[in-house]
Amino acid sequence: MLAKKQWACILDSLVELKTLLLVACLLCGWSFESWRPLQHGDERALKVRLRHAVNNFMMAVVSTLVSRGLALVTLLYALQWSQQQGVGLLAGSDLPVAFNWLAALLLIDIWQYGWHVMNHRWPFLWRFHVVHHADTTMDVTTGLRFHFVETALSTLIRVPVFILLGVQVEHLLMYELVVLPVVLFHHSNIRLPSSLDRVLRWVIVTPGMHWVHHSNIRAETNSNYSSLLSVWDRLFGSYRTRDDIAEVQLGVIGTEYTSLWRMLWLPLLGQPKQADADDSPAEKSG
Ligand SMILES: [Zn+2]
Ligand SMILES: [Zn+2]
Repeated sequence: MLAKKQWACILDSLVELKTLLLVACLLCGWSFESWRPLQHGDERALKVRLRHAVNNFMMAVVSTLVSRGLALVTLLYALQWSQQQGVGLLAGSDLPVAFNWLAALLLIDIWQYGWHVMNHRWPFLWRFHVVHHADTTMDVTTGLRFHFVETALSTLIRVPVFILLGVQVEHLLMYELVVLPVVLFHHSNIRLPSSLDRVLRWVIVTPGMHWVHHSNIRAETNSNYSSLLSVWDRLFGSYRTRDDIAEVQLGVIGTEYTSLWRMLWLPLLGQPKQADADDSPAEKSG
């Protein structure tokens, strides 16, 4: 059994690792996007890209400072408490350590799927989640663009859910380290060979999957909810693909908001609508 001090050290190292990973993924994503962009045009000119990146990055800073700080501390304390009490599904299981970690990863990921579905189904949650979808020039930095109310709610709702599941602090950090590069990757504006995208998406969510989710057509937006593993969409029938992924019209009609202030105010400006075309060029697969 590791002492409390040793755990604190390990957790600090993991947080530092996550920051390094974030910087590495952003640099890597930016380079690949410059080399092999999926979509290009005037709106993808370097100056515009830089302004777009700074705005999205500032959204992440605001989220971290304003809400996630407090909410995350609450979550970590709650998980530490439940770990000490030995409550929750995983705490009571006799699984070998490796299976326990795998089960934790699957449980957190399926919860993320369910939470994402709720963000699309419930108008109150969509009001904030739409800020993520309003990006009409998606790139690697879109993976950081979430309204601070959404990140706070997403963190706080995890308290009861993760206590019930028996998720531990180290499980959560492990998940965050694994999911971060995948989230940045599937938002990136990188043109992958379609065969590679098809192979990868048997396991993880790829740009070929997630760009469909960012389409301005409602039937497409309400699909491909997975964050890390693509299996949940296949399992629950929300998996959707398009061959002409570079032609996807991104964003939400009526919400061309790119400045930081406008993104922060967007939830107060009424309910934006998506195009209601079910006759989209998407192909649905099970
Ligand atoms: Zn969404
Ligand atoms: Zn997204």
